[in-house]
Amino acid sequence: MEVATRIKKLPPYLFAQIEQKIAEEKQKGREILDLGIGDPDLPTPSFIIEKLCEEAQKPQNHRYPSYRGLYRFREAVAEWYLRRFGVKLDPEREVVSLIGSKEGIAHFAWCVVDPGDIVLASDPGYPVYKIGTMLAGGIPLELPLLPENDFLPDFSRFPQEVLEKTRLIFINYPNNPTSQVASLDFFKEVVELARRYNFIIAHDLAYSEISFDGYRAPSILEVEGAREVAIEFHSLSKTFNMTGWRIGFAVGNAKLVEALGRIKTNVDSGIFNAIQWAGVEALARTEEVLKWLLPVYQKRRDLVVSALSRVGIEVKPPRATFYVWIPVPSGFDSLGFANFLLDKAGVVVTPGTGFGRYGEGFVRVSLTTPDAVLERAMSRIEEALNQ
Ligand SMILES: *Cc1c(COP(=O)(O)O)cnc(C)c1O
Repeated sequence: MEVATRIKKLPPYLFAQIEQKIAEEKQKGREILDLGIGDPDLPTPSFIIEKLCEEAQKPQNHRYPSYRGLYRFREAVAEWYLRRFGVKLDPEREVVSLIGSKEGIAHFAWCVVDPGDIVLASDPGYPVYKIGTMLAGGIPLELPLLPENDFLPDFSRFPQEVLEKTRLIFINYPNNPTSQVASLDFFKEVVELARRYNFIIAHDLAYSEISFDGYRAPSILEVEGAREVAIEFHSLSKTFNMTGWRIGFAVGNAKLVEALGRIKTNVDSGIFNAIQWAGVEALARTEEVLKWLLPVYQKRRDLVVSALSRVGIEVKPPRATFYVWIPVPSGFDSLGFANFLLDKAGVVVTPGTGFGRYGEGFVRVSLTTPDAVLERAMSRIEEALNQ
């Protein structure tokens, strides 16, 4: 039996491969410490779970949800945007609920990309930007994020003919995997380019709330005129330890939001209403959650940064996300160093090249592991490097 070419062309999903490798090592009886995937170890705050239980009891929530999302949830998103970013959104036209932002990002390419269209995807970057593009028949091109440019794309070095043919670009700040943040000025520059070259901006803001040392990430929609060219993807996964719940949303340009809603009408039928009610509660109490959540990650970040410093690897403490993007010691490449750590220390890190070829020279460590495990992993890494 043959599957479709579009499926055959897909590279295996990065973390599916890593999971298999971990399983193999475990079968050999080794204790493996996993700093690979970015999936919060802490539980969802109990008030959110309680709200889900309460709403799950109500028969009216057992029926098909609305395609675009529960109106009250979209309204809660608009209220949250106004409080958080000072951005006013129309919940009817400028907000759509998503079954996690991954779903929205993957489907978004279907809304705006015709076969053969060029899409620029941050590299290193979240793999779904490229994969969604490929599934829609578009041509993904890399938008390199290089250390010498502080992991921001350098558009001045991008050929003008390519920008002219570009239909869509995917950017993401605070950034996974580099943990770089972007200023409002950077977003202004991208919006200007989008207007000049007539392309669409998809900004992935999954890590807006995970930040340290007083830093708060901006929304691209704070830029004047952004709404004419941009859509922003958001998720409750990282902020509220809700990766398994599958709830996110997209906001911004009404036409783009409408198009995404149309896909959803035809492909899925929205998110379980009880989960959206729990989401309303979560968004309303964001500050309360962040107050205990952020210090946990900040402490882990500092632990990793100082352990690395002891073995001569200097990294600036990231200001946002729960990742540390680590330059590999000389003599290693990205995959080689990840394999070395797995073999010699029993620690899983993600090779930078798993996020695209411009991730070469780096590995990513995720801080979503209990403190004790993280401490053990870091001392094993120190030991392996000191040998
Ligand atoms: C985790 C993540 C997402 C997806 O989160 P969902 O659980 O699908 O909402 C999107 N973008 C980036 C960069 C991520 O790291």
